[in-house]
Amino acid sequence: MSLLKVAKLGSPILRKIAEPVTAEECRTSEFQHFIDDMIDTMEKLDGVGLAAPQVFKSKQVVVLKSRGNVRYPDTPDLPLLVLINPELTEPSDDLIEGWEGCLSVDNLRGKVKRHAKMTLSGFDRNMTPLSFEAEGFFAVVLQHEIDHLKGKVFLDRMDDFSTLTHLAEFERHWLSPVETV
Ligand code: ZN
Repeated sequence: MSLLKVAKLGSPILRKIAEPVTAEECRTSEFQHFIDDMIDTMEKLDGVGLAAPQVFKSKQVVVLKSRGNVRYPDTPDLPLLVLINPELTEPSDDLIEGWEGCLSVDNLRGKVKRHAKMTLSGFDRNMTPLSFEAEGFFAVVLQHEIDHLKGKVFLDRMDDFSTLTHLAEFERHWLSPVETV
């Protein structure tokens, strides 16, 4: 496995609509290696998710995993999930707001509102169909990663840039807010 190079904001590939993966392509050892490299890259860079366009491949693949993540210490664990050609449907009307960052947007965090719940369908790495409901943090990570397949980054989803924060300031002021009386 190897560490893939991460595309940073401004790289045109982050703004392209990713292509669906065919079953034939997914079954090649080259593509399976690519998925392993995505997982490896996400883990080594302490991401909770990674989309293929972020590693210069404009294909509809996302990987997710969170366990004791140092970049997001207060978040619940998510088991490893590989999703091919994902589709979000039935988004809830209620929204949740949370801090997001991105491996393609260095050193910034901002508050984003996302659907609190939705249904997801797609395929696993063996092209077996999947369909499930997601809510809370899991739903937020899925929406963030699937946005990458549509050429969107979290900055596009912010409706108030006043929360945009450098990582050092986020850690100083917002990570563990101390209550004052
Ligand atoms: Zn991202």
